[in-house]
Amino acid sequence: MDKKQLVIIGAGPGGYAAAFLASDLGLKVTLIDNEKYPGGVCLYRGCIPSKALLHVAKVISESEEAKNFGVEFSKPKIDLKKMRSWKDEVVSKLTSGLGQISKFRKIEYIKGGAKFINSDTLEILKDDKSTENINFENAIIATGSHPVRIPSLTIDSSRVLDSTSALNIEDIPKSMLVIGGGYIGLELGTVYATLGTKVTVAEMLPGILNGADDDLVAVLQKRVKSLFESVLVETKVISLEESKSGIKVIFEDNKSQRTEKLFDKVLISIGRKPNSKNLGLENTKVEIDEKGFIKVDNQLRTTDKNIFAIGDVAGEPMLAHKASHEGRAAAEVIAGHKSAFEPKAIPAVVFTDPEIAWCGLTENEAKEKNIEISVAKFPWAASGRSLTLGRTDGLTKLIIDPKSERILGMGIVGPGAGDLIAEGVLAIEMGANATDIKLSIHPHPTLSETIMESAEVFFGQSTHMYKPKK
Ligand code: FAD
Repeated sequence: MDKKQLVIIGAGPGGYAAAFLASDLGLKVTLIDNEKYPGGVCLYRGCIPSKALLHVAKVISESEEAKNFGVEFSKPKIDLKKMRSWKDEVVSKLTSGLGQISKFRKIEYIKGGAKFINSDTLEILKDDKSTENINFENAIIATGSHPVRIPSLTIDSSRVLDSTSALNIEDIPKSMLVIGGGYIGLELGTVYATLGTKVTVAEMLPGILNGADDDLVAVLQKRVKSLFESVLVETKVISLEESKSGIKVIFEDNKSQRTEKLFDKVLISIGRKPNSKNLGLENTKVEIDEKGFIKVDNQLRTTDKNIFAIGDVAGEPMLAHKASHEGRAAAEVIAGHKSAFEPKAIPAVVFTDPEIAWCGLTENEAKEKNIEISVAKFPWAASGRSLTLGRTDGLTKLIIDPKSERILGMGIVGPGAGDLIAEGVLAIEMGANATDIKLSIHPHPTLSETIMESAEVFFGQSTHMYKPKK
């Protein structure tokens, strides 16, 4: 049997990015996925459909807020069928486009499920149930992740949703409980709440968005107070039971007090697990850790030397851009380059309203690791641009090494934070210091100036905020 030079299992943002670069670098690539076209969770059931719906939510809430500027719209009429088909169209344009690009690059695309038979053979199960074995020189595992399910909360009911079914927006329920205060639950909760659902969020931990700094989360929390019915923290969901009129939910708070409430729908969004089972890894030397992530080194190589792993299946953070960059690094290593995946900053964005974004070192992390830092904050209330947008509820901050004055981290909350954070990533990767940011001319009037003014705050010289250096 001919050996394929590079086989990639899974065509999400990790797998297709790896495949495309590997092909550009001259490798013969075979890409395998269960879907007709590349895209993975991100394009079919994740990043893209959720952001399409969040855009709808943004249009609705901005049109409501326009009354503050003297423009009043009547209540919007929601055509769910049209909204769904618009979202699906976005997905199909992108995925079929990736299919085209894959063809242009002469990548062999196989639709099917792959399983390792040994360290250099895969069995492909096709849709018609036929199987084909293929041998390979190198393989990249890019099989992604799936939503976590807890047996005690698993009931067979169309009223209980996961992120995939929630994205279908079958209806606008009167009430919804979102279990889990992570970014996926909050983003989808935002969509439903803006469409008119009374959304309650229940989170087991003391706060929502574990990992993000408290001052950034506080700004979001203030706004979601009016958007969501309530946000319950330190609250565990004990059980779900279907009744005629909804799902009966039993909560337990941190004092072991139990309460009961009925919801039309429940969205379970309590995290994701790597897809490392049922891959036949036991037939190879690939090892997984206690959480199910495939163990890799800084070249994305597993404990089986010709097999690599990237993306969600290879560890946190489970984000599309991290998957793509790992994919590109693995492709370079396989093509013989001396490459490694060693980023200084992987940005995280929560696409709520306001958005929260951060990269590099956070204040929480600095505290935990006892790293000495200076924090320079610029509140958006002092930004001309944020006033013109009617959105002064933002904050930009820089985490700076007090000795070298290097930028170690950046955090932003406010509309468009997700786009602004890229400057922080570049600053950290380039080893920029506060002076570099202060002296870089940022266009006026833009929200990007809040980054420059944060650097000015560090020196006690902010133009729009009087805060002398102590
Ligand atoms: P995936 O995208 O999961 O792709 C894996 C592919 O492998 C799938 O197509 C799967 O069918 C295929 N596969 C699995 N097993 C096999 C097999 N045995 N044989 C063949 N094929 C197989 N991330 C962001 O960065 N930004 C966001 O805004 C964002 N929003 C999200 C919103 C939601 C609702 C969800 C659920 C996720 C979101 N994510 C977001 C996370 C993002 O989707 C993932 O981090 C990303 O898709 C991981 O890419 P991947 O290539 O590792 O795997």
